[in-house]
Amino acid sequence: MNLSDKVAIVTGSGQGIGRAIALRLAEAGAAVVVNDIGEAAERVATEIKALNGQGQAILADVSLPADVSRLVDTAISTFGRVDILVNNAGINRDQLMMRMSDEDWDKVLTVDLKSVFLCTRGVLRHMVRQRWGRVISMASIVGIVGNPGQANYASAKAGIIGFTKTVAKEVASRGITANAIAPGFIDTEMTQRLPEEHREDLKRRIPLGYIGSPRDVAEAVAFLASEEARYITGQVLGVDGGMGISWL
Ligand code: NAP
Repeated sequence: MNLSDKVAIVTGSGQGIGRAIALRLAEAGAAVVVNDIGEAAERVATEIKALNGQGQAILADVSLPADVSRLVDTAISTFGRVDILVNNAGINRDQLMMRMSDEDWDKVLTVDLKSVFLCTRGVLRHMVRQRWGRVISMASIVGIVGNPGQANYASAKAGIIGFTKTVAKEVASRGITANAIAPGFIDTEMTQRLPEEHREDLKRRIPLGYIGSPRDVAEAVAFLASEEARYITGQVLGVDGGMGISWL
């Protein structure tokens, strides 16, 4: 996969899956805008430069319209274009439904779903003008099958799937594809916070028998971002070791 001359924005790429995606796209030749809410973005941009790639950190909270405008404007002024958007930033605030606060509902829906709307809207007019674009958004297996304690997170991730299919239909005629990835259980800070017994229980539900790595997700993103994936749009690709087809 060759992404030379392409410019990518990867949201929430200071660590975890986003970091792996930023590094993988840079390895394929893309210039990468490393976005995160915190300083970690600078470290990943430095890693990319150390590998002779092009990386630019832009700190922004992608749930805020003004920050997203600045993110897209700075990406364009730095690299001249945006070809690939990876909507990866996400959080969880788990609680059983009956105890879930309004704040935890709103926060997760805003960071995980509204950000996808804001960032996609922000880049689309540039992609439409250049008649080429890739929008890849991080959903979750939880958005497909649900999960106790994650009503807010599951709703946001299911929303990303409906959003992706709609965007795919709206912009297909302009050479832009929109796809979602539904990771299963991937080894990152988000999942390292889970109690050990919960991690072991989740592991038993994975037919391939092991927890995925951020790089496993990054490989799928690199493919969907490439020219080779030009005929794939409106899809949800599970990267889950078979969890999505498991009855365990
Ligand atoms: P992670 O390790 O928690 O990383 C998420 C990154 O997003 C963090 O660097 C975080 O920054 C950043 N972020 C949070 N809010 C942001 C905001 N408003 N604006 C910009 N950046 C923000 O999570 P991960 O496990 O890599 O997950 C990445 C994506 O994959 C998420 O959308 C997640 O829902 C999805 N996913 C993960 C799994 C899994 O098993 N890990 C499974 C399915 C789906 P701070 O740390 O500074 O807050």
